[in-house]
Amino acid sequence: MANVTILAPHIDDESIGMGGSIAKHIDLGNAVRVIFFDSGRDGIEMKERESEAENVMAFLGIKDAQFLRGAIPYLHRSIPETIVGLLRQYSTDFLYAPHLNDGDSEHVTISELAHRLLWMANGNYFPDQEGKCNIKSLFLYEIHRPINEVHYLEDISSYEKRKKTAISMYKSQTGRVKYHKSAISLNRYRGISSEFSQCAEAFQIFGARNLIEIIGPAQLLTPGAPPANAHRSYQNRKKS
Ligand SMILES: [Zn+2]
Repeated sequence: MANVTILAPHIDDESIGMGGSIAKHIDLGNAVRVIFFDSGRDGIEMKERESEAENVMAFLGIKDAQFLRGAIPYLHRSIPETIVGLLRQYSTDFLYAPHLNDGDSEHVTISELAHRLLWMANGNYFPDQEGKCNIKSLFLYEIHRPINEVHYLEDISSYEKRKKTAISMYKSQTGRVKYHKSAISLNRYRGISSEFSQCAEAFQIFGARNLIEIIGPAQLLTPGAPPANAHRSYQNRKKS
């Protein structure tokens, strides 16, 4: 069983960016946890959005969530230490965050923080903390703006409906923008245009310590073969 931790700048980013992969991880028995940064501007909005998040967590089967309730531009210096502590406590194997060219300044801030967290959590920083960390890789998901160079596709064809439902549960947000439609349309484009699947989520991979650990040796040795006992498969593009 792998431990997956997702950094979500806002409540709904996790489902828009990677709701299908979340559902897939959980079906495979992996523990998924989310760290939410910003819950909203005031008490009423925070309550509404956190309650929506709790419903989505129960729907998808997310194990745990932390609401840091901090305005992202004013992230306090103590935040990285707090999150490193959580990543170590969770024995995080895979860390997810938005990608660096997302376009939304707050998403980019959390992406930059994720790169620093990977380095700090795996290193000898904050030695007083309990537990240790061996994050195998940082996966960057797409929310606001598509990824320019895709490193990895996750086939979510069987999880499309569950992802759409999860996003639709954020009624406070989908009332303004039809994220449940835009995200799924992007996922279909990703899958179909790459001839990979009917629906896929795209990621960039950073800081992979050992790629074989992530994708499984069978996949590297037998190009095109489905990975043995691995849920992750690299895109096997046809030469065009
Ligand atoms: Zn967001």
